[in-house]
Amino acid sequence: MAKEIVPPDCQYCNQPTKLLTGKELYGSDFKKTKFFWACKPCKAHVGAENSMGQPKGTLAKKPLRKLRRECHHHFDRHWHNNEERNKLYKRLANKMGYGYTNIHFGFFHELQCAEAILIMETKSWIEYNERNKPAKWQL
Ligand SMILES: [Zn+2]
Repeated sequence: MAKEIVPPDCQYCNQPTKLLTGKELYGSDFKKTKFFWACKPCKAHVGAENSMGQPKGTLAKKPLRKLRRECHHHFDRHWHNNEERNKLYKRLANKMGYGYTNIHFGFFHELQCAEAILIMETKSWIEYNERNKPAKWQL
């Protein structure tokens, strides 16, 4: 049985959001086959898994979307499969002082993004990931 999806409320105005296609959201062919939960008045949105719409996080306005993308930019260069990704999330969660490991950038707010970026820009973070890179990655 399909899991029931609860439409997310907008985290800025607390109003219900609407599931839109990329075409409806952007008014162009950009991401036209994707789906988004959107709050038009706030200009906030978040991606959905598919037309059924499991949200991939909380709604975000443009500056937060940019910060989340930046987090992924720093993070995604250091893993190639789910196991490596989970390990890396766990390491970042520990560095940020969280006792749990199921963190996801889609749920981060601005300060959490900023902190994660600061951690991921440090020499020790980068060097650790270089050292622990599986042999198959090396040239
Ligand atoms: Zn809103």
